[in-house]
Amino acid sequence: MMMGGAAATAATMAASGPSPAAEAMEMIAPVTNVALLPGTFAAGQYALPKLPYAYDALEPAYEKRTLEIHHSKHHAGYVRGLNAAVAKLSPHTKPVEPGEAKALSRALAFHGSGHVLHSLFWHSMTPGGSKCEGNIAKAMAESFGGAKFGMDQFAAATKGVEASGWGVLAWEPIADRLLVLQAEKHQNLAVWGAVPLLVCDVWEHAYYLQYANKRSDWVKAFMSLANWPFAAARLAAARKMCRM
Ligand code: MN
Repeated sequence: MMMGGAAATAATMAASGPSPAAEAMEMIAPVTNVALLPGTFAAGQYALPKLPYAYDALEPAYEKRTLEIHHSKHHAGYVRGLNAAVAKLSPHTKPVEPGEAKALSRALAFHGSGHVLHSLFWHSMTPGGSKCEGNIAKAMAESFGGAKFGMDQFAAATKGVEASGWGVLAWEPIADRLLVLQAEKHQNLAVWGAVPLLVCDVWEHAYYLQYANKRSDWVKAFMSLANWPFAAARLAAARKMCRM
């Protein structure tokens, strides 16, 4: 499925000579659904995926210690929470009490969205950053008036997230357009059916060790690392899947 996009991306990369990061990208290029990102599910359990680069590969914009704790402790915590919630739901040995059902649903949304967004977040950055070009640049121009306007809106929205949350660049399939969203916590203010293409974590755990209270500096650093080929591949795959 969706191999046309993968083949096209692979051909493009072969022409320019794939870097290790490009090889990791090629593996996930046809992915629309985060469930298909490598390592997010294994042996019947949600799993902590490996990073597509080394812990020190994003320095100095994102330092090793902050990234390692973020990935190995915080993301791992969401994976544990999600597996724990699912374990309570299934298999049922007795009816779930109304109060318990509400708590379980909240836990599933919180930890599940945390797992999805962190899995996307690691791929939303690439060592050295990247150019916004091709289909993603065209979509940015159509949706925001220009790629730079789209990036500026993404950065401004991300900086302005109230308390803990995410900046999300998403593709909305009804109008075939891009949206910039501010997800509060992990799960609030989403648009159902919109496919996240690029996400930036602005929970304090994502940047406080390195940037302290200077969230703007962290978002600027993230923008310098943004993985536009990843967003472009997800956009192409999402459009293709929705037109089947
Ligand atoms: Mn995080």
